[in-house]
Amino acid sequence: MSWKRTLLLIGFLSAIALAIEYRWQNPLGWVALSLTTGLLLVIRRRHAERVARWILSPDQEPPADVGLWDDVVAALYRRLRDQAATIQELEETSTSAMAAGQALPVGVVTLTTDLQIRWFNLAAEKQLHLQPEQDLGQNLQNILRAPAFASYVKSGNWSEPLTLKINHASGNYNLLLRLVPYARDRTLLITRDLTQIEKLETTRRDFVANVSHEMRTPLTVLAGFVETLRDAPEGALSAQQREQYFGLMAEQAQRMQALVTDLLTLSDLETSPSAEFTSVRIAQLIDTTRTQIEALSGGRHHWDWQIEAGVDLAGNASELASAFSNLLTNAIRYTPDAGTIRVKWQSQPDGRARFSVTDTGIGIASEHLPRLSERFYRVDRGRSRALGGTGLGLAITKHVAMRHDAILDVQSKIGQGSCFSLVFDAERVLRPL
Ligand code: ADP
Repeated sequence: MSWKRTLLLIGFLSAIALAIEYRWQNPLGWVALSLTTGLLLVIRRRHAERVARWILSPDQEPPADVGLWDDVVAALYRRLRDQAATIQELEETSTSAMAAGQALPVGVVTLTTDLQIRWFNLAAEKQLHLQPEQDLGQNLQNILRAPAFASYVKSGNWSEPLTLKINHASGNYNLLLRLVPYARDRTLLITRDLTQIEKLETTRRDFVANVSHEMRTPLTVLAGFVETLRDAPEGALSAQQREQYFGLMAEQAQRMQALVTDLLTLSDLETSPSAEFTSVRIAQLIDTTRTQIEALSGGRHHWDWQIEAGVDLAGNASELASAFSNLLTNAIRYTPDAGTIRVKWQSQPDGRARFSVTDTGIGIASEHLPRLSERFYRVDRGRSRALGGTGLGLAITKHVAMRHDAILDVQSKIGQGSCFSLVFDAERVLRPL
């Protein structure tokens, strides 16, 4: 209790004592009693005013020492604190719900039952070309004016989505959209841009067409020779001719085999989850590959191997071997005889590690570079086929690179040669302690 209140209480009690002493006869007692009572009332009134002021702006600290009001203030303060915590919790929930809505890859628009726009996320903003300042509160039918959408709305049957062609200055595309009623008086519009799905579908169709085409050529050749051998009258073919035909048939069979092997490798890389990574001794792996590669080159090229020992990778040995040997085989294929092929495996000052194959071969015109790792993309289809290429080598290499946090870098000048590199992230590189 503050000294002022103690003093006042003493005064009040003394006034009562005085009044009793004079048996309520002496006016002095009455005056003292009235004065102290009045003072007490004024003080209580001021306390009540302070409490009222605080209630009106509860962000401020509660008033301290307000006499009888202390209990009320404490209870109110506790209640306000609880409420503030609940409000903050609700705000956090609603903020994270809004953020989740914004991050959705599909477009979402919340609408009233008569299709007035209340809110929309970024994907919807992009897909429907909405402008927040202008379109909030607008009727959706003023924005999607296509008659097909009007009939969709009118039909009231929204169990199936509607595909709408959007014609916009930035380009035309198909949009899949669906209305979904929710709560008591709300409707949701969900939209999805079909461009990506359509692109994937085209890629899939192209892939099937490419595989069929690649298979058809060797099969046609094989079938032709089989027919010739079967139908040729006894003695019509010399032993030398027969041998030549069988040789050509074996070549076509090998081509199909290479194609099937590459297709299976690619499909494995695309569908299987990343294999367990182990510590791969890259110098050793390159050494093993080197024997096969130099045999394939058959002394037609000059080789320069600069391999840094002790720089290893956390990865999958067979995937890495396949990626390295694709780059090396390509260098052999596209470097004329007597050319030089330089192979380097080195750690970089920034902690990364680089495997590079530089050749003095035919080189590649710059317009082809961005597409080289597409499946079946070849600069010169005839040349690639003649040299035993499947058109899948770099697609496989790119996949292996992605699975090992590496990038495939290609530098090339037509007529001068190429440099294909795989650059591995520092986190992948293992060095001896
Ligand atoms: P391919 O089996 O046809 O070699 P790849 O996917 O390995 O298929 O390579 C795609 C294309 O990239 C090749 O057809 C070729 O045109 C070009 N290419 C790849 N490596 C080289 C290289 N070292 N020099 C020149 N062109 C290359």
